[in-house]
Amino acid sequence: MRTIFLGAPGTGKGTQAAVLAEKFSIPQISTGDILRKAVKDGTELGKKAKIIMESGALVSDDIIIGLIEARLAEPDCVAGYILDGFPRTIAQAESLDNMLKDTSPIEAVIYFDVDEDEIVKRLTSRRTCGQCGYNYNMITDPPPADNVCRICGGTVIQRDDDKEVTVRNRLLVYKEKTEPLKEYYVKQNKLRVIDGNREVKKVREELIEFYNKLAS
Ligand code: AMP
Repeated sequence: MRTIFLGAPGTGKGTQAAVLAEKFSIPQISTGDILRKAVKDGTELGKKAKIIMESGALVSDDIIIGLIEARLAEPDCVAGYILDGFPRTIAQAESLDNMLKDTSPIEAVIYFDVDEDEIVKRLTSRRTCGQCGYNYNMITDPPPADNVCRICGGTVIQRDDDKEVTVRNRLLVYKEKTEPLKEYYVKQNKLRVIDGNREVKKVREELIEFYNKLAS
């Protein structure tokens, strides 16, 4: 079950990947989460990535490809994985194909199709626990009034890159660098489009049905 979740930021990839990964006992590999942890831990990688991430630009292909290569070599990836937020450029997709060509290629790419206005609304209303990473939403799932995470007791904040100026920039970067991947995977006959404008539960049901077929 080797799949990629493709789509603009804020289309629900991370939320759905977390549920599916748990249900099907495979890891959710989010390059954004790996980078955020490096920033939090103050590693060399984190120092390099911090400013880039705050601006909404992309971290260099070399760094990201190196991270993914190491992560996919870990034993928990043997039965499959969900790549969430990777690849984000054609160069990353080509490197991934190269990495997997003699072993186990990607089976399907799920494209999360969401209207742009809806994306901006979702991202600017997102609030995140700085400790456990749980995502709240000011409209549908607000954090407690004192911003203390109800799951782990950490502090709930707005990610710098969820502020409106950065969100707009992330969407521009997405259109220029990542959207061409749709065509790339259509040519490989691997792209499956999911209507991500619907409520989370409906999208999840469709994904579970698809994964059940993939597993059988
Ligand atoms: P995300 O949480 O997936 O939206 O990622 C947050 C930020 O991390 C992005 O805006 C980029 O700066 C960086 N990032 C995450 N994944 C990648 C990737 N595959 N390639 C380049 N930069 C990435």
